Amino acid sequence: MNTLARLEARSTSPAAGATGAKISSNRPSRAEAEQAVRTLIRWAGDDPMREGLLDTPARVVRAYQHWFAGYQEDPAEHLQRTFEEVAGYDEMVVMRDIDYQSHCEHHMAPINGRIHIGYLPRNRVVGISKLVRLVQVYARRLQTQEKMTAQIADTLQRLLAPQGVAVVVEGSHGCMTSRGVQQAKATMLTSRMLGVFRDRPETRQEFLAALNLDRASRWAAGR
Ligand SMILES: [Zn+2]
Repeated sequence: MNTLARLEARSTSPAAGATGAKISSNRPSRAEAEQAVRTLIRWAGDDPMREGLLDTPARVVRAYQHWFAGYQEDPAEHLQRTFEEVAGYDEMVVMRDIDYQSHCEHHMAPINGRIHIGYLPRNRVVGISKLVRLVQVYARRLQTQEKMTAQIADTLQRLLAPQGVAVVVEGSHGCMTSRGVQQAKATMLTSRMLGVFRDRPETRQEFLAALNLDRASRWAAGR
């Protein structure tokens, strides 16, 4: 939020933890990954050697590098720059409508949605772009929405140590919209409340009111 940008900033480093999910050493080669895509093309019923599909395996593998970049990132690295001297600011900080793209771990189908993050600072705040990076580290992995919600909230609580963290996630799941029960407009809402957001109903209510969550249904209806 704008409030953050105006705060006088000074960098400091919170304790970093081993929070990454670095890829293990038995990662297959790029050629092996491209071969696996050719297998899936054949399984779908097409010929991976026809002209229109010749470069597809290489493109898919490059797309995977982006979609799953989160495995090679440590969220602690993104949250190391926090800002102290918040000029006595001790009110809630809320960032709404962070877009994310993820993939479900059951079908590898896309999940698209928005994430809303709130926290009550304890002496220090974090730059807004860092919250977006935190979301991307966990979104760019194979996920369930529930797990991603918990990971984002728990990591922010652990690394920033605020008085509390609140995370609400909206998600439209490709595995539900385009296959299975085919619910094109259904969206899932998940949340995790920690610290004062869990313990104090009025704090939780203030956060949820700031989200104005009936926008969620308007957003979903417009898709
Ligand atoms: Zn799925």
